Amino acid sequence: EFMYLGHAGGVKLPNLFMPKLMNNHGNFVGSLGNVARYLGRKAEELGVEIYPGFPASEVLVEDGKVVGIATGDMGISRDGEPNANFTRGMELRAKYTIFGEGARGSLTKQMVERFGLNEGRDHQKYGIGIKELWQVKPEHFQPGLVRHSMGWPLPNNSGGGSWLYHFDDNLVSVGFVVHLNYKNPTLSPFDEFQRFKTHP
Ligand SMILES: Cc1cc2nc3c(=O)[nH]c(=O)nc-3n(C[C@H](O)[C@H](O)[C@H](O)COP(=O)(O)OP(=O)(O)OC[C@H]3O[C@@H](n4cnc5c(N)ncnc54)[C@H](O)[C@@H]3O)c2cc1C
Repeated sequence: EFMYLGHAGGVKLPNLFMPKLMNNHGNFVGSLGNVARYLGRKAEELGVEIYPGFPASEVLVEDGKVVGIATGDMGISRDGEPNANFTRGMELRAKYTIFGEGARGSLTKQMVERFGLNEGRDHQKYGIGIKELWQVKPEHFQPGLVRHSMGWPLPNNSGGGSWLYHFDDNLVSVGFVVHLNYKNPTLSPFDEFQRFKTHP
């Protein structure tokens, strides 16, 4: 469901006019942490080695080509000196190196700059999303319901909106996104989220 909210109520928008990516009928609702753990197990069953806790800290480039990454040194004390747990970082070399660091990865940023990957591309657009996980009374729980809104409490010149996902054991993921190009410098995404939660 997609709602356009005013301060005292809202109207449901017909799904017909929504972009395809907002059409989630027949899909599953779940926790991304659980999905990632599930995929991790599947990958390991296929022989993939996963090194949690070892961030890639350096890209290895030879002859203008990425040949792998290096992990950082572990066990460095606050004053920058090696402590008893010191372990030297290691190089992981590969035929292909795929960067999946999320929206603003530190190594990806270096690669974008070094190889001019953003030339002729649109600028990235950023937003902030704030989420709470509620466990609600069974009478308020509608398993599988996905509801998005736009409009109130954001002013017309600021982008963003809310979500409510009912899933798992009477859980509702409640959240609010504000696009970070808002014009009013006193707008506070956290306070807009708090106001959103007072909507009838
Ligand atoms: C509040 C919020 C709600 C959202 N809700 C939805 C939703 O309902 N539905 C939906 O489809 N999408 C949603 N999204 C978007 C979705 O979460 C992202 O699009 C998706 O997670 C991006 O996946 P990714 O693998 O590219 O990056 P990420 O999920 O960000 O994963 C990147 C991973 O790489 C790790 N990493 C970063 N740098 C390094 C490094 N140098 N070395 C090793 N590891 C590193 C990070 O710790 C992280 O675990 C939401 C996003 C937010 C913030």
